[in-house]
Amino acid sequence: MEPDPVSGSLEESHREDYRMTDTSPARIIDPTCIGYYHAHLYYQDTQGLAEARRLAEAAAARFDIKVGRFHERPVGPHPLWSCQLSFAAESFGQIVPWLALNRGDLDIFVHVGTDDDLFDHTQGVIWLGHSHQLDLSGFTGDG
Ligand code: ZN
Repeated sequence: MEPDPVSGSLEESHREDYRMTDTSPARIIDPTCIGYYHAHLYYQDTQGLAEARRLAEAAAARFDIKVGRFHERPVGPHPLWSCQLSFAAESFGQIVPWLALNRGDLDIFVHVGTDDDLFDHTQGVIWLGHSHQLDLSGFTGDG
């Protein structure tokens, strides 16, 4: 059936379909909302701690990263001992491949940094090595 050239009714109904698709959960999110990345080095004994120190030191010598404390107990959502490396979103392409190649036996939890902690630690995650179950009970999803 041809669209009515005066009312444009068929065109209108297509536009309605498009709006409905647009509000579905499978919306497209622009990566410009990512302000930074964290790469959390995971370990669970003094040998792993030494490995993490070695890797963080080597990374800091090459890249503009901020190295956090070397925890010797689980902190926040992290189920193992960990150390946080943080870096600008623009550095992802240099740092993450380097970590993948040089992580040795360490598992590394990389996540995006937006304004939504729950999103960052569930949807926005990338694992190097094995993945681990995070403790998300501290995140409300409100901010
Ligand atoms: Zn983090």
